[in-house]
Amino acid sequence: PNSQLIKRTFTSIPYDPDSVDGNPVRVLQWNVLSQALGQNNDRFDSCPLEALEWKHRRCHMLEEILRYNPDIICLQEVDHFDFLSRALATQSYSGLFVPKPDSPCVYINDNNGPDGCAIFYKNDKFDLLEKHDKILQVWTVHSNQVSLLLILKDKSTQKELCVATTHLKARKGALLSTLRNEQGKDLLQFISSHAAGRPTIVCGDFNAEPTEPVYSTMCSCSYLPLDSAYKLSGSEPLYTSWKIRGGEGEVMHTIDYMFYTKHKLTVSNILDMPKEIDIGENRVPSMTYPSDHFSLISDFYFNTNTNVCE
Ligand code: NDP
Ligand code: CA
Repeated sequence: PNSQLIKRTFTSIPYDPDSVDGNPVRVLQWNVLSQALGQNNDRFDSCPLEALEWKHRRCHMLEEILRYNPDIICLQEVDHFDFLSRALATQSYSGLFVPKPDSPCVYINDNNGPDGCAIFYKNDKFDLLEKHDKILQVWTVHSNQVSLLLILKDKSTQKELCVATTHLKARKGALLSTLRNEQGKDLLQFISSHAAGRPTIVCGDFNAEPTEPVYSTMCSCSYLPLDSAYKLSGSEPLYTSWKIRGGEGEVMHTIDYMFYTKHKLTVSNILDMPKEIDIGENRVPSMTYPSDHFSLISDFYFNTNTNVCE
């Protein structure tokens, strides 16, 4: 109630209650903005320096996560995993982390180690069955991007769920868009080999707008049929990231997604992007939001016809 953070609302997605089972699983997807990169690399010139200080950001980061009480949390650009892990443990979360092989953070003075992907889950709701990670390959060569995947078992229903996250290669250009597409193909193979037919959620910062090849690759995979949760509101949002950088200027675009196996899961709610007026003209990060990416949240029900494994 006393939150300083930008207010946000949910949109409910119509669904057939007879075709779903149990309670929904709330999943949060967020590129939290690495502390080292945000303060030293990104050139967020219109953001007050104070807002980029760790002592403010860490509170706002936790507040943004905990105010929605997610069951599963997929994060990218995490360079303070120990802090998050200790803080979230007090709220019954367990977490796993995989660093990027050659994180740009470690080249920054006073860095806090490499950034990477993390997944947290409520340990009173899920048992961890399996954990896998992978350095994504581009034409069989390792890239600097990773994926983390967990197989979780819902304690109350015994249903199993595969959750994966990634942070694909950043920056513009035809070659980089091809590279992201190759990373997406490798990601799909990695996920399908471990998902083994289980209901699957793939969250991440794909660094690609919906017009890029990797978006189509993710949504048209023959052996792992995925849909984008946010598209259920009619179309992808106008933005999931909105920032002003020195040199580059203002960038507003959709590059973060939550993909899911539509024939095994049903989306009942999504968290709307904040409104322009609430974001403010200096965009984000800001004193009222700690990252240049907004969090995404979807509530997923297991479909009734979903077997544990098929
Ligand atoms: P990426 O291109 O994927 O980007 C790395 C990070 O930079 C991302 O977290 C990205 O954030 C952010 N970013 C994107 N656009 C900009 C921008 N315009 N300004 C500032 N930051 C931006 O890089 P890789 O992970 O592939 O790493 C690049 C390579 O560079 C590494 O292999 C590393 O060795 C090398 N490097 C070397 C340094 C040195 O001093 N020698 C310094 C830094 C990197 P988002 O995804 O949110 O867009
Ligand atoms: Ca970034």
